[in-house]
Amino acid sequence: MIVIVGAGLAGLACATELHRHGKPFLLLDAGETPGGRLRTSIRDGFTLDHGFQVVLSSYSAVSKVVDIASLQPRYFESGALLAHKGRFAHLANPLRHPLALFENLTSPVFSFRDKLLLGTLVTRVTMSSDASLLSRCKSTKDLSTRDFLRQFGFSPFFLARFAEPFFGGVLLDGDLGTSAGLFLYYLKKFTTGRAWILASGIAAIPTQMASLLPAGSLRLRTRVMALDVKNHRACGVTLENGEHIAASCIVLALTEPAACQLLERPVPEPARSVAVVYFKSLQSIYPNPCLVLPESGSGRVRHFAQVTNVAPELAPTGFHLITASVLDFADLTDEMLAQSVKNEIAAIFPNAATSLEYLETIRVPYGVPFQPPGFAKRKPFSDLPDGIYAAGDWMGGASIQSAISSGLDSAHSILNPHCS
Ligand SMILES: Cc1cc2nc3c(=O)[nH]c(=O)nc-3n(C[C@H](O)[C@H](O)[C@H](O)COP(=O)(O)OP(=O)(O)OC[C@H]3O[C@@H](n4cnc5c(N)ncnc54)[C@H](O)[C@@H]3O)c2cc1C
Repeated sequence: MIVIVGAGLAGLACATELHRHGKPFLLLDAGETPGGRLRTSIRDGFTLDHGFQVVLSSYSAVSKVVDIASLQPRYFESGALLAHKGRFAHLANPLRHPLALFENLTSPVFSFRDKLLLGTLVTRVTMSSDASLLSRCKSTKDLSTRDFLRQFGFSPFFLARFAEPFFGGVLLDGDLGTSAGLFLYYLKKFTTGRAWILASGIAAIPTQMASLLPAGSLRLRTRVMALDVKNHRACGVTLENGEHIAASCIVLALTEPAACQLLERPVPEPARSVAVVYFKSLQSIYPNPCLVLPESGSGRVRHFAQVTNVAPELAPTGFHLITASVLDFADLTDEMLAQSVKNEIAAIFPNAATSLEYLETIRVPYGVPFQPPGFAKRKPFSDLPDGIYAAGDWMGGASIQSAISSGLDSAHSILNPHCS
């Protein structure tokens, strides 16, 4: 028997691939629903994702495990609105909107030097392979994103107006301490792909994946408490209720701390967390189908979006849904946080002051793992007992793409043991 522990995207991708090859397995998850960190809840008819999560059309792994078209993807405009002192400017992605190149070059948002540097960097990353960009994450020469951007010559103004709000939000890392290799990889994925969300919420991805698995192969509300290993070989798992399930192959499709706990190894430092604050509004606060980036240092909001500009289905008819991501929130109650977020949005779009009605705050303590410079050179699980495989987003670049890829890789290692 093959037991997969964890039915997040990594575990579901592993299960999907094993099923495709006719291999029986049992997928176990401690949660109420499959999907792990891809969660959506419904409140008063509004569809609320647990964190602002987008999929990029440049993520090649997604279409291997889901039928994207049937999920009703809704696409963001490729670019962002940059807010500064009560005004905002549009920054478009010239690879997606060639006519915007002139607009970008003539716009007073950034200095000519910053625009030239951005053009040079974007050209470089789009001409590099994913593997070569990610190989930086294994190098001792890898820098933090902040140091890399500074060394490349970008001005502090560019960092505060674009890099910190945009990539700080993507990496859930306001200080840009994340590996520059990972930043360059995301820069490529964002410039060559378009971001989408789903009309019925991000959890539709794992829901579809789980629905295609054989009946009885997924057990929810089933926490694995221990791995049973004899003579350095996997022989099963023990559940919270004391049940023992024999297994010659175990895939740990978990977060790194959860996997470390089961393997009785030191647990790594806590991950990066985020809070999303939701508002409803009867009035539209801005019309564009894109993200708004407040200048960093101007408040707590990293970015916000009126997501119904992209997917009107997320709110009941006549309403708009606004989501704001905040990284620095631990000291505030939900009400204080909501007020501070509302004030910040109203400083950019004054009609928000009267039109935004607070809906809900969702705090996500484990967002993505810390991925400092050179993080991929660590080999935390290089000496696993025979028959135990590790998967999970933390093995690559902490994304939907890396979670699915790691799950597919673990399935291939089981199916082709001599190639792994
Ligand atoms: C707020 C937020 C925003 C994000 N934004 C983006 C984005 O825009 N784009 C992007 O690509 N990625 C984004 N990500 C990252 C992406 O969601 C994750 O990389 C991906 O979902 C991780 O999947 P996983 O399967 O590796 O782990 P998880 O989803 O964490 O799955 C692990 C599973 O293991 C289960 N489990 C844990 N312990 C046990 C146990 N002992 N027994 C049984 N089951 C157990 C858990 O219940 C869980 O279901 C974001 C993440 C968050 C939280």
